[in-house]
Amino acid sequence: ESKRILDLMIHSIYTNKEIFLRELISNASDAIDKLYFRSLTDSAVGLNREDFFIKISLDKEARTLSIEDNGCGMTKDELENNLGVIARSGTLDFKNESDLGAQDDIEIIGQFGVGFYSAFMVSAVVQVVSRAFGEEQAHVWESEGPDGYTIRACDKDTHGTLITLTLKENEKEENYDEFLETHRITGIVKKYSDYIRYPIRMELQKSRLKEGSEEEYKSYTEEETLNSMVPLWRRNKSELTREEYDQFYKDKFYDYEDPLSVIHVKAEGAVSYQALLYLPAKAPYNYYTRDYEKGLQLYANGVLIMDKCADLLSDHFSFIKGLADSQDLSLNISREMLQQDRQLAAIAKNLSKKIKAELERLLKNERETYEKFFGEFGMQLKYGLYSGFGAHKEDLKDLVLYYSMAQKKLVTLQEYTDAMPQDQKYIYYACGETAAKIELLPQTERVREKGYDILCLTDDVDEFAIQMLREYAKKEFRSVSGDDIGIEDEQQQKDVQEKTEANKELLDFMKEALSGKVHSVQLSGRLSRHPVCLSTQGVLSIEMEKVLNAMPAQEKAQAQRVLEINAEHPVFEKLRKLYEQDQEMLKTYSALLYAQAQLIEGLPIEDPVAFSNEVSALMAKE
Ligand code: ADP
Ligand code: MG
Repeated sequence: ESKRILDLMIHSIYTNKEIFLRELISNASDAIDKLYFRSLTDSAVGLNREDFFIKISLDKEARTLSIEDNGCGMTKDELENNLGVIARSGTLDFKNESDLGAQDDIEIIGQFGVGFYSAFMVSAVVQVVSRAFGEEQAHVWESEGPDGYTIRACDKDTHGTLITLTLKENEKEENYDEFLETHRITGIVKKYSDYIRYPIRMELQKSRLKEGSEEEYKSYTEEETLNSMVPLWRRNKSELTREEYDQFYKDKFYDYEDPLSVIHVKAEGAVSYQALLYLPAKAPYNYYTRDYEKGLQLYANGVLIMDKCADLLSDHFSFIKGLADSQDLSLNISREMLQQDRQLAAIAKNLSKKIKAELERLLKNERETYEKFFGEFGMQLKYGLYSGFGAHKEDLKDLVLYYSMAQKKLVTLQEYTDAMPQDQKYIYYACGETAAKIELLPQTERVREKGYDILCLTDDVDEFAIQMLREYAKKEFRSVSGDDIGIEDEQQQKDVQEKTEANKELLDFMKEALSGKVHSVQLSGRLSRHPVCLSTQGVLSIEMEKVLNAMPAQEKAQAQRVLEINAEHPVFEKLRKLYEQDQEMLKTYSALLYAQAQLIEGLPIEDPVAFSNEVSALMAKE
């Protein structure tokens, strides 16, 4: 099996053969990390950061490329266990997977580290000479590929590992000689391993004018460090281009798209740290699920200590990708300790401020970018408004956008209130599936006639968040379907009141006919042309009821429905007549009007067949 897997890997997975070098260098760097880490906590190691290096050497005649490190090295057992078995990763049991298609193979290979084995993509022979730190005896592991390997004792002066690849002979379509060219190797190192924190050295051919001569050159070799080592985030903002920032993001956080924005933070003071924060252009497919894990990479002085440190990011900014690096954090920090770490809390608080400021900047100066961001992650901000009983509303209320019915575009709450006419007292909103459907709602009629704008709330969380906000710029929110739309028109109010009194028995009769379904039947102050609508009393709206009932729960939520009837509509005259002449028919009419009001709200009606039959019966009537 391992032969088959190796063949597959060599021939089909990595068409990009050059990555073998990245893999071997990062193994060398990991090995140094291990020893360096020990040296920090155990002074007996007696090594300093500057002592560590990775060295690449090329030998054209022997067709070899070697990579040497002075990291932790490997014992005989470790050579055997770490390099000996290709599928050493415990997640796989190849014996059971007897008949896999090629597609499956590729997926399987992706599941475990094939790092070291990538050397066989370019090598005929791989030799690993290694001496574990603190051991006297060194060993050499040698293999020509999947058929096996040998291990024997050997001499090595220093601890660490020396890997020597004897490159394959060139084939018709494959040229392996390129990996013996210094410029090719320096290019690969720069491309993949520039931020390796230890120097990657190589002897380079150089030439200079011979002394005393003006045209005769003399060549010499000099060892140079190929990588810039200093991590991007430690460099000065002024030296960095947006392309570099973006490339770093794509490499490190596995995104195909450039981020919408980059925040590079360098903080000095009580806690010193650097951070690199990115605003992704697209929400990951699992972003709004439980599977999504928020967090920033956490480095202590350039050494990665945690891949996803959740405590560094507020929930409402969980979409941010990036890292933070602090000199002031202890390396031996554990997960539990992190949670209580005051320095970490201070960093997190600061980062939240920076993120908020950047979002505000985008909103102000790059509206299009902001709206793109909002389309992807706006819902998270809205959840943030609502969560923790509105604990973060001051931070978030100016970052949310809603669709304005009058302006036909997304607006902030500030923009909405700025555009309010003098006499408008409240911020109006209406809920529905889409802005287009909301515009059709009869409940919006009066408010629009007054020339007031309405915010269209289309996300499940919207109304909950709005209720948590309660007000903006001292203006309360009012739902156009709530019990009081707060539009005072004395004449109209008087009319409705008088008519209500005059028709009290009719309204009571209808309420009785709809008993268990509606809280009351009233004459409407919010309709002018439409015959009926539903409104609600109390905090629970119909949209909220829908959201709550979509969640698994024992008890169903029930908004207090009010069936509102337009007394100016001809249908009302008919109702009055029926009350005098045919109360059975009035019951049917009541049920039909209620069904219509439910349909307008996008609510299912209890018995669509009965509804259809009743309407047809009415249509057939002479
Ligand atoms: P991974 O790096 O994902 O663990 P690799 O196949 O790249 O997988 O390496 C396998 C293992 O071999 C490493 O985990 C490490 O224990 C060991 N190893 C590889 N290269 C070195 C090295 N230069 N020094 C010490 N150990 C090494
Ligand atoms: Mg590796």
